[in-house]
Amino acid sequence: MNQLTASYIIIYVFVFLFGACIGSFLNVCIYRLPNNESLIKRNSHCMTCGEPIKRRDLIPIISWCLLKGKCRNCGARISPRYTIVELLNAVLYVWIFYHFDGIMRPLQATLVSLLFSALIVVFFMDWDTQLINTYVVIFIGLLAIPEYVLCKDYTGLTLKSHIIGFFIVSVPLLLICLISHEKAMGMGDVYLMAAAGLFLGMQGALVALLIALITGSIGGLIQKHSNGDSVFAFGPYLSIGIAISALYGNQIGEWYMNFTGLNEIMNEALLII
Ligand SMILES: [Zn+2]
Repeated sequence: MNQLTASYIIIYVFVFLFGACIGSFLNVCIYRLPNNESLIKRNSHCMTCGEPIKRRDLIPIISWCLLKGKCRNCGARISPRYTIVELLNAVLYVWIFYHFDGIMRPLQATLVSLLFSALIVVFFMDWDTQLINTYVVIFIGLLAIPEYVLCKDYTGLTLKSHIIGFFIVSVPLLLICLISHEKAMGMGDVYLMAAAGLFLGMQGALVALLIALITGSIGGLIQKHSNGDSVFAFGPYLSIGIAISALYGNQIGEWYMNFTGLNEIMNEALLII
């Protein structure tokens, strides 16, 4: 193994471990934000016996495996979801770093990583509570600023595309929300797609919606089939759409536009605007 390969492996291991630690913080956000609890004060504690978790048992992924998913104090089962969130964030960071060639373009990889972490919080929180936290949405929207200022050479997105992205999906969702009296769509979904659209740009926002509609239909059908419930949170599916769009939005968008012949119509429409 040459020196370059070794240093690449070390960097990727570091990205994985860093991702796992951030994943641990995301768990705190997912469980405390809905209850308006502080994110920094008070140590994590066992949900059953209330015993504060010892520092040595707070190592992401590893502690849960060593304790075989049980509380050291009372032996109650600790949900594997904490570890799944840590692992998911870690694996996604590695994937993003690889996808954007994080060694050459660390800034873009970092911004998309932060976006993904926020989406993980949206996904699990909306799944549990059917609410999308405003602070998380604002965080996603703010990521668009450094993305435009520092990475526009890589993203190829113009200011116009970012601004159109803000409105292009959120406005139709807002109309559905108003017409259905927030039954078909919540205001949280509207804000999420405005913020994410600002980050992704016009085409990226449309791709995100397309994927959300496809995965949401499938997910909704499965849910209705399994428990007869036709009410479900749309935020998790929007999160999946936004995430996939952030990585593969350009390819999917181009394929779809060519496939449907929409590219010519869009080009003319953009000239008019
Ligand atoms: Zn316990």
